[in-house]
Amino acid sequence: MKKYFKNIYQAFSSIFIGMSITFKHFFKKSVTIQYPEQRLQLPERERNRIFVNIDDCIGCDQCAKACPVSCIDIETIKAVPGDIVGKTGVTSQGKKKVLHVAKFTIDFAKCCFCGLCVYPCPTNCIYMTNVFEYSEYKRENLIYNFATITPQEAEALRQKLAEFQAEQARKKEEAAKTTSAPKQDSEPKPDSNPDVNKQDNQTS
Ligand code: SF4
Ligand code: SF4
Repeated sequence: MKKYFKNIYQAFSSIFIGMSITFKHFFKKSVTIQYPEQRLQLPERERNRIFVNIDDCIGCDQCAKACPVSCIDIETIKAVPGDIVGKTGVTSQGKKKVLHVAKFTIDFAKCCFCGLCVYPCPTNCIYMTNVFEYSEYKRENLIYNFATITPQEAEALRQKLAEFQAEQARKKEEAAKTTSAPKQDSEPKPDSNPDVNKQDNQTS
């Protein structure tokens, strides 16, 4: 019997304690916000999704080398004389571009937002944005491609480079052959024409 009343007492006291905590929160300032309508201001050194301004990228590969998880994949193709790389051939700071960036992907499923790719970039074209909402249902959708060259254009550029290099190699080979060929004497030596020598002797 005593235990029965004790249980009733414990049930009511725990309800009372729980409800008193709940009621206290009615009069406290809310710590949550109505996301996504309301948003907190992000800290100054926030780390979010990376962006690459491909127009300023010179394909130097410094960012990919710095990435600790190898989630940056860059493929470049050398420009041949006469090529205009990108839209203008130069970066916005006037730096000449000599490499076509055929591939520039970042796998954000692997990225750990360390920011190490940002610091070595000589043209400041890779940087953190304030975008942090980009969840996807499929992992492959987290691989972002920043290159603007299509696979067909890349193939055409590769072909053009291969032809240019073959032409250069052919010219080099020809030049080497010309240099190694024995020299032809342009003027005959005095005693190389026996007829002339004979005439000279007769005259004397
Ligand atoms: S933030 Fe870090 S992990 Fe992400 S791409 Fe840059 S270097 Fe790689
Ligand atoms: S470091 Fe900058 S310029 Fe070099 S490949 Fe990366 S993004 Fe492009």
